[in-house]
Amino acid sequence: MSATGADAPATLLSETQQRAFDEAPGFMPVDEAAALHTVATEYLSAPDAVGFGVEIGTYCGKSTVWLGAAAAPLGALVVTIDHHRGSEEHQPGWEYHDTDLVDPHTGTLDTSARFRRTMFDAGLEQTVIGMLTASTTAAQVWGKPADFVFIDGGHSSEAAQADLAAWAPWVRPGGALLIHDVFPDPADGGRPPFEIYEKALASGEFTEVGAHGSLRVLQRVRPAA
Ligand code: SAH
Ligand code: MG
Repeated sequence: MSATGADAPATLLSETQQRAFDEAPGFMPVDEAAALHTVATEYLSAPDAVGFGVEIGTYCGKSTVWLGAAAAPLGALVVTIDHHRGSEEHQPGWEYHDTDLVDPHTGTLDTSARFRRTMFDAGLEQTVIGMLTASTTAAQVWGKPADFVFIDGGHSSEAAQADLAAWAPWVRPGGALLIHDVFPDPADGGRPPFEIYEKALASGEFTEVGAHGSLRVLQRVRPAA
């Protein structure tokens, strides 16, 4: 597994998309990214597809390249939501802080311009819609079921639970709820993504249909005919 994506399967991304993925800072190992592409393709091209998917947690667009690359040939869209101010662990003094991503004007993290550059480089500006706000604020104006919802936002308990509550309801029947950073063993990582994964399963509304690294793929149960 490579965090740089250097060994990504060549057929899923164009050469320029591959380069955009490789160059973007972020948190998406290539094997999980490739799984995202496969799952997005499957759900966006289903007979009852609505034609778009949602990502919570854009950062610099690393995962978005793969979702967009899946959507573009299908004429589908991807909405990716982030306030672009970073999660806890991206703030100054924390483990994943990147000083290159601080806006000197505000003194705060700002990944929005770097995200735009990634989409430009990947040729995905017509496919990917960036929503620049907190995920729960975006949910206040949302109103449409999606083929998939990919939760990769804040990892505090509050943020993860809020994302599940606000966004899982928008997965269409038969659509996919994807959750990143699910670690059954606490030694491997934080609990909140695992806890919302368990909560989604316990609701009876979703069944697990796939697991790739820390990515879990749940499918919304279709109502009985
Ligand atoms: N998918 C990205 C990684 C996302 S990191 C990749 O492939 O690299 C998590 C992101 O979630 C950060 O960019 C952070 O700003 C965002 N985030 C955290 N809490 C959020 C919230 N409440 N609303 C919107 N975005 C949030
Ligand atoms: Mg993640």
